[in-house]
Amino acid sequence: MISVFGSANMDLVAYTTIAPRRGETVTGRAFSTIPGGKGANQAIAAARAGAEVAFVGAVGDDAFGPVMRGTLESAGVDVSRLRVVPGSSGIAHIVVDDDGGNSIIVVPGANGAVTGVSTEDLAVIARSDALLLQLELPMEAVVAAARQAKVPVVLTPAPAQELPRELLAAVDLIVPNEIEAAAITGLAGPEEALMALLELVPEAVITLGGEGALYGSRTGERLRVPAVPVKAVDTTAAGDTFVGALAVARAEGRPHEEALRFATTAAALSVQRAGASTSMPTRHEIDASLR
Ligand code: ATP
Repeated sequence: MISVFGSANMDLVAYTTIAPRRGETVTGRAFSTIPGGKGANQAIAAARAGAEVAFVGAVGDDAFGPVMRGTLESAGVDVSRLRVVPGSSGIAHIVVDDDGGNSIIVVPGANGAVTGVSTEDLAVIARSDALLLQLELPMEAVVAAARQAKVPVVLTPAPAQELPRELLAAVDLIVPNEIEAAAITGLAGPEEALMALLELVPEAVITLGGEGALYGSRTGERLRVPAVPVKAVDTTAAGDTFVGALAVARAEGRPHEEALRFATTAAALSVQRAGASTSMPTRHEIDASLR
């Protein structure tokens, strides 16, 4: 079982040929509202990839809350620790251009009201094989969950921000993209950044977009797994799909290289479809693609 302590956002997605610059207005091609948020995305990705998943987080008492709860539930995610708080749900305003690139504004809403982790939350987390954390909840809540989890902690350090020492001390595996890895370490090259990350945590994976992923451990293991060559139409949540699938494969006890291939395969399937939760592949699709 995988537990996820994180954000649920409604993604408000505008599709456009070219993203607007400051002061500019462009006419978009299409618009959709898609349940997302890094926490909910990772929970749905892990559930679709074949694991039992529990989500711990919050939605608002607005129209988006029940939609997000329903989306998690229909992916098979246990939402018994999803709370409803007064006010708006978290939203992410996303612009997707024709090259599949994206830019995002996140407004925390209900996610900002999650300032800690309860005894009941911790009881659910303690039953899991791993706890997945991201940085879309208040930092004090993320730190509290990481420190009190009695299971391996996987951190996606996004959106990029300063990482407190006590958080890093409680993380077992960190999974930044190239930009986040550079921000944390101050080193531009992924190989150098990986070495620096391993001084902070025991294991690290740097995702490299269309170049795949780089893995390293303090025990000296190094792996570079190429991306599956596909035509990307929307990379939203590629990283979350990768992390969710990676956690599932590791919980199944797969060797590191096999787990990374499972994750890059899941992520490659997701970039070929639009949206966040809507783009995540099922276990059947991942297994078929691996064959
Ligand atoms: P996002 O913020 O868009 O969700 P990210 O920046 O967190 O993504 P990336 O490094 O861009 O993460 O992508 C995560 C993984 O998704 C990569 O390691 C790779 O396996 C897969 N991936 C991303 N882009 C492509 C692509 N163009 N083709 C194939 N696989 C891709």
